[in-house]
Amino acid sequence: MVTSFIGLANVRLDGLRRAMAAVMHRVHARATAGMVAVAIAAVGLTSTAAFAQTSPSTTPAIKAASIRAVVTVPALKSIVEPLLPPGSELRVLMQPGRSEHGYEFTPSDLAAVAGADLVVYVGLNLEPRVEQAVAKPIEGRTVICFAKVAGLQRTGQPIPNTPEALGHDHHHEHDASCDHEHDEKWIDQHLWLDPMLMAKLVGPVRGAIEETLQAKSQLTTEEQQRQGAAQAALLARIQGVDDQWKASVKGFKHTTIVTHHAAFSRLADRYGLTIASVIRTIEGSEPTPGDLAKVLEAIEKHKVRAIFVEPQFNPRAAERLARQAKIGVGQLDPIGDGDWFALMQRNLDSLTTHLKGE
Ligand SMILES: [Zn+2]
Repeated sequence: MVTSFIGLANVRLDGLRRAMAAVMHRVHARATAGMVAVAIAAVGLTSTAAFAQTSPSTTPAIKAASIRAVVTVPALKSIVEPLLPPGSELRVLMQPGRSEHGYEFTPSDLAAVAGADLVVYVGLNLEPRVEQAVAKPIEGRTVICFAKVAGLQRTGQPIPNTPEALGHDHHHEHDASCDHEHDEKWIDQHLWLDPMLMAKLVGPVRGAIEETLQAKSQLTTEEQQRQGAAQAALLARIQGVDDQWKASVKGFKHTTIVTHHAAFSRLADRYGLTIASVIRTIEGSEPTPGDLAKVLEAIEKHKVRAIFVEPQFNPRAAERLARQAKIGVGQLDPIGDGDWFALMQRNLDSLTTHLKGE
């Protein structure tokens, strides 16, 4: 393509040649960008090769226990990391500051998935590229789908901003008899925001790590004991989060909120909060005037005390709405930076500030 442009330019008049030179400059710029992309992909492939090199076949028998683990959503790190043997590697694919919806995994992310011993992802169509990447089993790699572990397997995602859709649909998740009726209904993908679901993940992750080590002949009695203690500590810590949320919410004077996107319905259900409405019905795009009018109506109808914005989205529309409705603005972070316990604490603190009342 580039070569044929040059050949063509050579037989034209000077003026045309100058114009072609300008075109060539753009073509060249594009070619350079393409080459960078190829180079990035090559780096991804190199890291896959590096992953493969640590397999037992190329290492001495006395190699210490270690696992290469990959998680998608940062919060999953808090469950997987304490259970990994020392010297293991854990890669969190989703980078902070970006929405978890429509997240574009890089070739290097997918190479890490291909070369991992353990992959933990959420499912429910939150990370379709990762789901595709793990669809074909690889010998020696264990894949854990959080949704499956939690007993949730359906997708279908029309995004709600009515209390009915936010509060009630997913109560029917486990009811197989009405599966068809609810097939098209919305299901909250943010499983990690419910401590009780996080607790369900601990056992399967430990089991997978233990099996992986056994398959590599790296499972010692000491490591088994360490893992047992880590599992118990993790479950106790998660229980502590649940206890603290229950105790704090009991003291709230107000329990009805508006959130930025529909991420918190599981959390709300767990602790008796009501989400009157959400501002962004489609994550990533700005709310429409129609969305905002609906939210304002819900704020007035349900006497909402605060709107909770999220660090991954521009808060301007929400802030304007809060001024208009003369209510407060707080922050609820659905993602965090990989420390789930800190995330849950920050979110609870933020709710407490706005809902505890005078
Ligand atoms: Zn979300």
